[in-house]
Amino acid sequence: MAKIRLPTMIKDVGSCIFKKPFTREYPAVKVQVPEGYRGRHTFDPEKCISCGLCERDCPAKAIELVEVSGKRMPKFYLDRCIFCYQCAESCPRDAIKLSTTFEMSTTEKKELLILPEEFISKQKVTTDEGK
Ligand code: SF4
Ligand code: SF4
Repeated sequence: MAKIRLPTMIKDVGSCIFKKPFTREYPAVKVQVPEGYRGRHTFDPEKCISCGLCERDCPAKAIELVEVSGKRMPKFYLDRCIFCYQCAESCPRDAIKLSTTFEMSTTEKKELLILPEEFISKQKVTTDEGK
């Protein structure tokens, strides 16, 4: 069995005390995600033309087109999503974009749904604020 050499150990411990920690104080300090990070989807209902290409091309079957305000728009099931972003690639109108939002863990399955209404109401608020 290898012997622990006390002087070496004291030296190592001493040098570690004065080093900057390798860990981050998350969540108190926000983590900067790298460029191109594939986080939670964002969706622009105004741009969507209901073509269904996002639903067709999703390899994880994580998109379903649903009817909202007389138009068919994607509903995302994040519990199935593999964050490949094929949907954004396939969309001819750039209506689906990635975001840097990565904090999605939950014990509630319904919180892993992204409904088009979420973005319709956001756009309405933005438009109303601009009046
Ligand atoms: S990121 Fe990939 S898996 Fe997720 S909804 Fe888009 S196409 Fe489907
Ligand atoms: S591919 Fe784009 S335009 Fe077509 S239904 Fe999906 S989000 Fe809408």
